[in-house]
Amino acid sequence: MMNSALLCFVAAIAWGAPAASEGVALSPLPAQLELLIKAYPDLDASRCTSQLLVWNDGTSVPISPQLAGRPDDQQLADATIRDQLLLVYPKGWPFEVPRVNHDPGRLRCDAFFRKVYGAAAKDVERQLIRVPWPPAGQGASVPFSNANGAAEALRKVGEELSTLTSEIRTSVNRPCGTYNWRTIAGADRPSPHSFGIAIDFTLPKHLHRYWLWGRGKNGGEPIYPAEVLDDTAMRAIVETFEKHGFIWGGKWYHYDLMHFEYRPELL
Ligand SMILES: [Zn+2]
Repeated sequence: MMNSALLCFVAAIAWGAPAASEGVALSPLPAQLELLIKAYPDLDASRCTSQLLVWNDGTSVPISPQLAGRPDDQQLADATIRDQLLLVYPKGWPFEVPRVNHDPGRLRCDAFFRKVYGAAAKDVERQLIRVPWPPAGQGASVPFSNANGAAEALRKVGEELSTLTSEIRTSVNRPCGTYNWRTIAGADRPSPHSFGIAIDFTLPKHLHRYWLWGRGKNGGEPIYPAEVLDDTAMRAIVETFEKHGFIWGGKWYHYDLMHFEYRPELL
């Protein structure tokens, strides 16, 4: 059920939506903003508009128009909130091989993540807690952000996966990275691992795939490992993560099969 503050917000964003006659490319932004507000309870629904996100403490981040026509690398480097919400994540299984440049969740507004999870390494680290990861054995744990329910969501994923078949459990028994304050290789923007909301695994060899390792000749376009579409173990793993608010990098054109990221606004 929608509460009154959320109704107020939905009314505000409907009012603020641009008219088609203005020539602005329309995206289903209000619905996606509504999901964002539900997924990040520290946002103040009564004060958010189609132009601005406002948190309960008064902090705000502009949503900013989608700047059409920017080169992909520039869009990745300075994504706005609108960019971040634009592409629809294909929850569930089966799914189709991602279309060219369809990377839902890969565009991230830096100001948004710094506000939610920490502006600098020391701020993120203050919110890290150890989360049990039973697929890796009794007592195993990984650091993850306790902000916005991320750590609790990961705990539930690990608990559920540990009850599934041994093939599934052994596929995720080697977590190889969660928190790491760093920029993305070859880029100048923070990795989602910088915020303690992503987890990578050393997967079985046939699944351990990353788009930069699987390009065509002369550094061409990524070649999607379509055999993963029929992998029942991966299906169970992905469905469990998605159930608890995580997206999977295997659904990106620039695929990263080892990567799961807490992004409840996209699910
Ligand atoms: Zn990763």
